Amino acid sequence: GSTTSGTQQTQIVAGTAPGFQPFEMMQDGELVGFDVDLLEAVVERADGYTLQRWEQYEFGSLIQALTTDKIDTIAAGMTITEKRKESIGFTNPYWDANQALLVREGSSFQPQSLEDLAGHTVGAQSGTTGESLIQDLIDEGTLKQSNYNAYPKYPLAVSDLENGNIDVVVIDTPVAETFVDNRDVVVSATVDTGEQYGFGVRQNDGDLESALNSGLQAVRDDGTYADLTEKWFAS
Ligand code: GLN
Repeated sequence: GSTTSGTQQTQIVAGTAPGFQPFEMMQDGELVGFDVDLLEAVVERADGYTLQRWEQYEFGSLIQALTTDKIDTIAAGMTITEKRKESIGFTNPYWDANQALLVREGSSFQPQSLEDLAGHTVGAQSGTTGESLIQDLIDEGTLKQSNYNAYPKYPLAVSDLENGNIDVVVIDTPVAETFVDNRDVVVSATVDTGEQYGFGVRQNDGDLESALNSGLQAVRDDGTYADLTEKWFAS
């Protein structure tokens, strides 16, 4: 959790889950990505706070790490949802996303909608909004529970897709695009979910939330946000 140093700077710990390219990933043993650069730039402009270090978790464990004070903020392409807002707070949005249906290159199975997944084997990363869509299909009887494979990390789901162990991966659109560039997969359709990513904070940490929101505004105003978008998303 956060500690205050002599200069009245509160040191914060950020949590993320690498494997979500280009938002957070390991490169030559180093944690890099858009979220990493963005949060660092935001905290630099957030009055009274400095970033002490990054901690890595599986995506599905980040909220608990935050609520139990292991970390002070989440920067992990995390969608702001009503459900999550029952346990944590979020900054203002910093990215828009939808969900993509990712299939093997050359696959004859080209799902055009979630309903098309009926009878097929589906994968997603645990704890994600992609998983929630799949869970809805299971709940309404469209998909069998046994046809859903949950993975700790999306790259493992994509490997299973390439291997033919599953037929489709439900995953955020910007990250799907990166896998299309680097792996033997294609997007067969997108599902318009209108998601927005925010940095997660504890509900009782309104001071940090306000400081991060000011920092976000500052990086938008001074061109840093545009530079980072160019750095990580220009193709
Ligand atoms: N945006 C999705 C979510 O919030 C996926 C995030 C991720 O896998 N890092 O659930």
